[in-house]
Amino acid sequence: MGSRHEKDKAVNVQVLLRCRPFSDDELRSNAPQVVTCNEYQREVAVSQMIAGKQFDRVFMFDKVFGPSARQTDLYDQAVVPIVNEVLEGFNCTIFAYGQTGTGKTYTMEGECRKAKTGPKGQLPADAGVIPRAVKQIFDTLESQKAEYSVKVTFLELYNEEITDLLAPEELSKIALEERQKKPLPLMEDGKGGVLVRGLEEEIVTSADEIFSLLERGSAKRRTAETLLNKQSSRSHSLFSITIHIKEATPEGEELIKCGKLNLVDLAGSENISRSGAREGRAREAGEINKSLLTLGRVITALVEHLGHIPYRFEIGNSLKRIQLFDCFSVFDKVLFWICRDSKLTRLLRDSLGGRTKTCIIATVSPSVHCLEETLSTLDYAHRAK
Ligand code: ADP
Ligand code: MG
Repeated sequence: MGSRHEKDKAVNVQVLLRCRPFSDDELRSNAPQVVTCNEYQREVAVSQMIAGKQFDRVFMFDKVFGPSARQTDLYDQAVVPIVNEVLEGFNCTIFAYGQTGTGKTYTMEGECRKAKTGPKGQLPADAGVIPRAVKQIFDTLESQKAEYSVKVTFLELYNEEITDLLAPEELSKIALEERQKKPLPLMEDGKGGVLVRGLEEEIVTSADEIFSLLERGSAKRRTAETLLNKQSSRSHSLFSITIHIKEATPEGEELIKCGKLNLVDLAGSENISRSGAREGRAREAGEINKSLLTLGRVITALVEHLGHIPYRFEIGNSLKRIQLFDCFSVFDKVLFWICRDSKLTRLLRDSLGGRTKTCIIATVSPSVHCLEETLSTLDYAHRAK
């Protein structure tokens, strides 16, 4: 146990498994339960009947959250340390990966429609990772005396094209189609990262504002979905929070710490295996494949190599780090090459590798109806470990 905890500290990529409760439909249809979670042992067992016999497959993860785990349990155990890294000036990423309907959006956003913080600033119990992270960030920054700013962006990646979910323009079909024709371009920022030209950056001043931003973003996603016949299960969404903190060094020099947290709600994992044979869909499925597959390669590379490479830039994203590339190891350069293959990984390039932390939350349903996809999610997530 001791060594396992030691290892935890050094791990840059964590893979968690969350199994949601039975849905009303699953309960009504009396669907047998095939997934059992053992949070203490960090194990998930899947029972299968093959030729009348029961077989169990057991998977182990860094952390396991069963159907009764609350949003706050997952957040406190898995996300708090990551947000602390971001507040120290590092870039970190959290992915939700799984079949459509297994709780990716619930985990990342929660039920945020019309949600508000309570009179003492407490969050609704259903609030997901995004509002909780924003609250932790503001609570920490407000308790310090430093000057700071918090900016967020929210975008959707559909068919390898970027749409701004915070853009204020009206939601007409024509406007959306126009935008679809002219997706926002990705450009190099000269510091090893990329910029999305024209992407709305919203300055946030309190945790409360996040709910209206989330609602605006998801409303836009829903409208685009109906007007343009998109399927939200086929798009990735990326919510990024960038923090700048002004600090003085003991020598009286001014230092700006900059950290970024990326929260990614990935396309439904079922889209990987079922690359629709019909023409229109084929490209679409291929493109999603590309982002998810490239992401898979990046994660594998991270897991296989990062443990052996010493951290290069200990001072975080401060202004002192002018030549980012000078601090980069050979591995990071290789990683950059892999990242070039898809928009999603290009967007996340400055947040993967080096002194960053990555967390993958794999989500599954407990029901027999999802058995096949559950096994493929568990296999994928387990390989990432
Ligand atoms: P996805 O984004 O993966 O397609 P959703 O987050 O939309 O899935 O979840 C599908 C449904 O299941 C939603 O109604 C959501 O509220 C519910 N749900 C998902 N996970 C949980 C959970 N851990 N506890 C309670 N309800 C959940
Ligand atoms: Mg969703």
